[in-house]
Formats: sequence, structure tokens, C-alpha cells
Amino acid sequence: MSQRSEEIAARLAAVGERIATACADAGREADSVRLVVVTKFFPSSDVRILADLGVTDVGENRHQEAEAKAAECADLDLCWHFIGGLQSNKAAAVAGYADVVESVDRVKLLSGLQRGAAARGRGPLDVLIQVSLDPPGAGGRSGVDPAELAPLAERVEEAEGLRLRGLMAVAPLGEDPGAAFERLAQIRRPFLAAHPDAGVLSAGMSGDLEAAIAHGATHVRVGSAVLGSRPAVK
Ligand SMILES: *Cc1c(COP(=O)(O)O)cnc(C)c1O
Repeated sequence: MSQRSEEIAARLAAVGERIATACADAGREADSVRLVVVTKFFPSSDVRILADLGVTDVGENRHQEAEAKAAECADLDLCWHFIGGLQSNKAAAVAGYADVVESVDRVKLLSGLQRGAAARGRGPLDVLIQVSLDPPGAGGRSGVDPAELAPLAERVEEAEGLRLRGLMAVAPLGEDPGAAFERLAQIRRPFLAAHPDAGVLSAGMSGDLEAAIAHGATHVRVGSAVLGSRPAVK
């Protein structure tokens, strides 16, 4: 094993233990939470190491980087999650390589995603709706306002070629993540009642995965705890 493989294997094991402990604390089965390793800023050689170590799901948040990496790793049997802010003119291209688009937050994205999914010809594209947990009016927020979730979910359900699988959220900076994910769990209740097949809840990152699992996360998106710290964003 290379030094990098050993380092990633050790970090991966530690994250696995955190997930198992959080599940036990929440009275949940350890296999009820799936790990998506966020590989943004890290090279495709790391994606290969992850796949060798048994990781099945990877996440990327920037279209160009994601597209290139997915192409470089096309021989690997991985599920690619797109988790970043999405421009409507890029939606079709993202649907060309992503297996799950987690960051759908407006109707305007749907036609592009539908077009991209149809062109790819692999059947329906899995979609999560990103819900904003930021206070209304906060700058730079991504995600649909919780008040707009129900109509957006209906539009996704109606969109041929897209399959509504659940919700995604990011805890706001500077707030106790437990409080934010508690709010998310409340938002999810009526959503699940209306969309019983959309049971995915993607929430929790390196710093707050325990709080997310306590509040029902089925997927955690973990980057730095597995791969190390990322170079600062310019
Ligand atoms: C980068 C990113 C993550 C992973 O963050 P870490 O703190 O490195 O675990 C999770 N979700 C989204 C949407 C991200 O952009």
C-alpha cells in the first residue's frame, strides 16, 4: 500500500467508527447511513484509492472538476453525487455524468437535467432537493426556502426522467448544527408524508455528521475527515 493509501485507509476507518458510534447513540443500525466521500480539490488518484478501499459513493461540487474526474475514473464502479451550486446552463452537462444530483433548488434546473438524463440514456436521474437552513434573507444561501419545498417537490415528481429521492441540506455556519438538523427533521416530516419513496436525507459533513445522524441523515458527505484539509479556496 502506498503512503497515501495507508493515510486514507486510517482516516476512513476513523470516520466509519464515528458513523457507527453515532448510529448506536441514535438507536439506528450502522448500515442505515451511507458515506459519500467528497473528493473536490483532490486528484482522481485519490478517487482510485477510495474505490480500492471499498468506497462506493463520491461527491463533487464544481462542474468542470467533476466532469473531468468522472471521465478519468469512468472504469470504476462508483456512484457520483453532484453536491454543488448548479447553474441552469450547466444542468444538462451535470446530468451527463452524475448519478445523483443533490443540489436541486429551483424549477429552472429541471428541464436541463431532464435533457441531460435523456441524452445519457440510462434511465431516470436521481435527484435530491436542497433545502436552505439559513435564516430568510441571508446572503449567499443555496437551497430552496422551506416554504417553497412542497411546490418544487411536486414539479420534480412530475418531471419525466427525474426521480425524486429525498432532501439535502448544509448546516449554516455559526449555528449549532443540532438545532439546524432538528429544523431539517421537522421540514422533512410533511415532505416524507407527501413523498414516501423519497426517504434519502443527505446531511452532515466532517464536523457535524453525528448531529445529522441523530436527526435522521441517511447519507453523510465527508471530505476533509477522510482526505485531509483542502487547499484554501481562492
Ligand atoms: C465540501 C462539502 C462537503 C464536505 O465538507 P467537509 O467539511 O470537508 O467534510 C459536504 N457537503 C458539501 C455541499 C460540500 O460542498
